[in-house]
Amino acid sequence: MQKSGQFILMNRSEFKNWLYNSKFTRRITLIQNHHTWLPCYKQFKGNNHFEMANGMRNSHLKRGFSDIAQNLTIYPDGKIMVCRPFNTAPAGIKGANSTGICIENIGDFDIGGDTMLPEHRESILFVNAILAIRFGLPINTNSIVYHHWYDLNTGQRRDGKGATKTCPGTAFFGGNTVAAASKYFIPLVAAKANEIKSGKVESVVSHNLGSRVLGIGDSGSDVIELKKRLIPLGYNLDKTVSKFDTYTKNSVEHLQGKNGLKVDGLVGKATLNLINVKLKELESKKEEIIKEVIKVASKYFKDVDANHYSAKHIDSLYEKGVTSGTSKDTYSPRSSVSREDVAVMIDRAIEYTIKEIEKKFI
Ligand SMILES: [Zn+2]
Repeated sequence: MQKSGQFILMNRSEFKNWLYNSKFTRRITLIQNHHTWLPCYKQFKGNNHFEMANGMRNSHLKRGFSDIAQNLTIYPDGKIMVCRPFNTAPAGIKGANSTGICIENIGDFDIGGDTMLPEHRESILFVNAILAIRFGLPINTNSIVYHHWYDLNTGQRRDGKGATKTCPGTAFFGGNTVAAASKYFIPLVAAKANEIKSGKVESVVSHNLGSRVLGIGDSGSDVIELKKRLIPLGYNLDKTVSKFDTYTKNSVEHLQGKNGLKVDGLVGKATLNLINVKLKELESKKEEIIKEVIKVASKYFKDVDANHYSAKHIDSLYEKGVTSGTSKDTYSPRSSVSREDVAVMIDRAIEYTIKEIEKKFI
């Protein structure tokens, strides 16, 4: 997230957080889609988001507007900028501003103009979908509208008749008519909204685990963190899905039941505490097992299996100089020993024994 004056530049995930954590005082019933036509893709250099916003603001002020006209600008790289504050009505479409949110998509999307980039397309769908979810709007051509459908003189919606602009472009998602929007744009926005609701979309609202009580239907990065803690305790959950689903609820209830907590499927302080205690227990159990394994493993050879019955004997003979490995740190415990090698080993063992006896008597 980057700020410059009133402008806030965000990626999709940041925008979702911003949208869910902001308070809105104005009633919103319409989402307006526009294209800027000029500036278009040619003017976008990849890092001049704020420069472009200031340019548009200046030109709108010159035209007599009180501020930059649009609430949101979506850039070719998919970045989303809050421009005019949401609590102020935009100057987007005559007749549709008082309850509208105005989205300006940078570009010329008339036929023969700019070819919309994939990230841009993704953000346009995402922003329309998340606005509809946040403001409880049905996803159809009554709440998601194009500038082209409004008469420029009267401000009446005439679905393309009368004095109109082509905005958001005759090639915008297959066309700027109501029929084209119903056929192409609206179904894509609806699909995106379903993805967002199921938690299968890249962005999640970030909450720290423990900052709220979690239950079925919740989604966010805290749900993912919760799942990551439940999985090692034996629960088979999908940590790529940020939604607290039935599987999560069943797992929580099972854990609560097994440990004498109230079985309500909610993760509050007590349940989170229990999960953390169980994880700590598991951690110390793991450490104990590792210590046991280290105890029997060979100190010298990496290929002598930790549980190999002969590990400690191999080490003992190595320390006494009776046997050496097949290289600096390998012993090749499964390979066979020739009669010559055995002769050498017995000889060394006898030598070692004599030395030990001598040590005792000298
Ligand atoms: Zn427009």
